Amino acid sequence: MRTGFVGWRGMVGSVLRQRMLAEGDFTGLDPVFFSTSAAGGAAPDVGQGPATLLRADDVAALAGMDVILTCQGGDWTHAMYPRLRAAGWDGVFIDASSALRTADEATLVLDPVNRPVIDAALAAGCRTFVGPNCTVSLMLMGLVGLFRAGLVEWVSTMTYQAASGAGAAAMRELVAQMVALGQATAGLDPAGDILDLDAVVSATLASEGLPTQVFQAPLAGSAIPWVDRLVDGGQTREEWKGGYEANKIMGLRPPVPVDGICVRIGAMRCHAQAVTIKLTEAVPLATLERLIAEAHPWVDVVPNTPEATRAQLTPAATAGSLRVPVGRLRPLAMGPEYLTAFTVGDQLLWGAAEPLRRMLAILRGRL
Ligand code: NAP
Repeated sequence: MRTGFVGWRGMVGSVLRQRMLAEGDFTGLDPVFFSTSAAGGAAPDVGQGPATLLRADDVAALAGMDVILTCQGGDWTHAMYPRLRAAGWDGVFIDASSALRTADEATLVLDPVNRPVIDAALAAGCRTFVGPNCTVSLMLMGLVGLFRAGLVEWVSTMTYQAASGAGAAAMRELVAQMVALGQATAGLDPAGDILDLDAVVSATLASEGLPTQVFQAPLAGSAIPWVDRLVDGGQTREEWKGGYEANKIMGLRPPVPVDGICVRIGAMRCHAQAVTIKLTEAVPLATLERLIAEAHPWVDVVPNTPEATRAQLTPAATAGSLRVPVGRLRPLAMGPEYLTAFTVGDQLLWGAAEPLRRMLAILRGRL
């Protein structure tokens, strides 16, 4: 299978290559690497031997691929996808960007959640597959067991989103802000007045010198309840995606309302979210926990204890892992049909690269 990789050196593309190498996915594949910035240079060696980077705007070269997998970004997809299809290319297009997520011809891929939707799309001749939004994917990876059981009337999700969702520069900015706080407070007496420490931190966060080019506000030592741009009704686009994409991924009819507030916090690569679920009926907690835990092999129900929560249910504990822990499960004071939960996931894995890697494996009959 001649497979063209575009956007392979960005953050998502790098994690994708790392995962494909770890799983032996390049074995038997015929990879071709494209670049928007360094055509003619050396392609990464993933076992295929020395090769040259091709131009990522070369329609003829791209049209020679059976599959194009792109993590390049929405601008590239908007520019090149229509040209490729207009040129008669009918290969399979797999995309990390949001450019085609609302297109009728595109299927959103998250196979532990929607493998039947993917298989039906393949059988119907679908050639365009798109990775969903990271926050939506991680919410469904945690809670799909309840959706499958038809128990979800609506979901309100309040997110705690990592810097990595805004790209590599955002991760660097978060750490640079942490460094600024560390440097500003380094000379203070550890046994000194706590109000002095607090005043230095507050002054540093408010200072013009704090790097805020990406987030436009301090993130270290703070939180930003705004992700992406404004859409209708006071919602952000990130919040809109929660409802639209969750329903499209699972093919839910009628749609299940999903809404809430998306918040950026100072985590590096794991998104967390606190959810309130209105169940269609009151169900014993043990049954709900079983439905969540049995949904697929990567979900873990975490006991509602301080020790288990601190050890397993944090961004720091989940970074780099394919596990999706779900904890803090309990009925709310509003009534037995109101359930709360907290879930965490590595947004560069299930939220970005892994569904694309697995879609390629599904095409090759390996999954
Ligand atoms: P990114 O890190 O900015 O990489 C995108 C492209 O930027 C690279 O492929 C590379 O293209 C170019 N680039 C320029 N300077 C670079 C440098 N110093 N290092 C590496 N690459 C550089 O973008 P991304 O975060 O991977 O996101 C790619 C797409 O996936 C976007 O559409 C994004 O919305 C989507 N997505 C992202 C996430 C996430 O968590 N970040 C999650 C889901 C989906 P050339 O090699 O051609 O120059």
